[in-house]
Amino acid sequence: MAALNVLVYPCGRLLRGLLAGPVATCWARPPARGFREVVEIQEGKTTIIEGRMTGTPKESPNPPNPTGQCPICRWNLKHKYGYEDVLLLSQFIRPCGGMLPRRITGLCQEEHRKIEECVKMAHRAGT
Ligand SMILES: [Zn+2]
Repeated sequence: MAALNVLVYPCGRLLRGLLAGPVATCWARPPARGFREVVEIQEGKTTIIEGRMTGTPKESPNPPNPTGQCPICRWNLKHKYGYEDVLLLSQFIRPCGGMLPRRITGLCQEEHRKIEECVKMAHRAGT
């Protein structure tokens, strides 16, 4: 029976893991938080599909400046965006348009202020 218990446990974890996902994950957060990886493990005749929490999401392959303290710095985007770059800006705001706090975006103070300013400009421009 011990073997059965071992097999049941990952299944239970799978259900808990997947069900907790959408409920626990607030959409205002960037997808980075609560990142889950679906892992398929083949054990003899049993396939275990598991929703595994991964602490940090796989950061994009090779940021040009890996020592930067925030995503903008890492990608050398410091002066390369403006209020018209809504795709970039939208990653740092809530669905209602407010800024996400820095502890979530991971932006440095300087970039946070600049993004905030750009977001305001974008709102005024109606984009
Ligand atoms: Zn920065």
